[in-house]
Amino acid sequence: MAAIELDGIVRRFGDTTAVAEVSLTTERNEFLVLLGPSGCGKTTLLRMIAGLLEPSEGRILVDGQDVTTLPPRERDLAMVFQNYALYPHLTVERNLGFGLSVRKTGKQEIRRRVEEVAELLDLGHLLRRRPKELSGGQRQRVALGRAMVREPRAFLMDEPLSNLDAKLRAGTRTRLISLHRRLDTTFVYVTHDQIDAMTMATKVAVLNQGRIEQFGTPVEIYDEPASAFVAGFMGAPPMNLLPAELGAGYDDEVVVRAPGVEVALPLRAGADPGIRDVLLGVRPEHLVPVPADHDGPVLRGRVDIVENLGNEEIAQIEIGDLRVNVRGSRPIRLGPGDITTLAVRPEHIHLFARQSGRRLSWESAPVPALVS
Ligand code: ATP
Repeated sequence: MAAIELDGIVRRFGDTTAVAEVSLTTERNEFLVLLGPSGCGKTTLLRMIAGLLEPSEGRILVDGQDVTTLPPRERDLAMVFQNYALYPHLTVERNLGFGLSVRKTGKQEIRRRVEEVAELLDLGHLLRRRPKELSGGQRQRVALGRAMVREPRAFLMDEPLSNLDAKLRAGTRTRLISLHRRLDTTFVYVTHDQIDAMTMATKVAVLNQGRIEQFGTPVEIYDEPASAFVAGFMGAPPMNLLPAELGAGYDDEVVVRAPGVEVALPLRAGADPGIRDVLLGVRPEHLVPVPADHDGPVLRGRVDIVENLGNEEIAQIEIGDLRVNVRGSRPIRLGPGDITTLAVRPEHIHLFARQSGRRLSWESAPVPALVS
């Protein structure tokens, strides 16, 4: 239900600034993922939303109500922890109902809600067991169920899938997506795993050193990363980033030069003409092996390693001192030692200012010529 607003949130621990001014607003029923590498401040931010930690500055609003100084139990938000935190001596049924009995909810009502949640999470056959008799995935579901019986305004989750193996992770993601749809509730989900963000989020906030690098839908973040940091964080393998220089071309175009590549791009008016040093970004799936005489932007290099992922292959190509990844359906038709020419469509080229890392916009109109 809840819409969450973070307004200028800062959190310091002594000399460390864990969260350095974060502002964002979610819609109601958003599945918000806070994504970023270790130490970027995600958990600190989530703990402040939960009320487990006070911000040094800023305000937190839930459905327009300022909850910044309210204790956790008065916020009506449920936190699901990474390490499950189940009571080991209680059965699954009592673990699920515990929070309600503490709140003096009637027995009938507790039974009704526990049964409903057990049904939703497929825990009905496990109600008599204790946590040690459950698998990691089952424990994770009980932890989630314990939060759900309270029917909170929002669920706050800190890496809830991190203890699960790859197959269970995938299954649990699907379950969370459908739960989010059925419960009509806001989820705030902390992870360093970009696949969690791509698959489940309606909105992603990518965090770097306590700041939001980008806030948008998973598609916006993947297709138009706002910075080289975001580009290098999203995707597996992530976007290839090659140091390049902008030089003057014909008419309105600029020429991007990097080892093994030279591409002419028409820059949109307003792009900062002062910037010379850039990073040229291309996603691995946008590099396509072509014949050597291909007409269009190309990179040339030597194939080093080819990894087989079953349905796809990933080839690592050496271009001078640089390495790029190419991803394609198997067989990708590249072998170690091959000299290869890789085409990229101009609209799949991203440019970032090398110094600030910020995205440079340019028009993706068809490019007349290119040289390799
Ligand atoms: P991870 O994915 O590793 O859990 P995170 O993105 O959740 O990382 P936080 O746990 O929020 O990161 O920590 C952000 C920064 O704040 C880190 O530099 C961390 O060392 C620091 N920090 C967090 N809690 C405290 C604390 N209680 N005292 C001092 N520094 C802290």
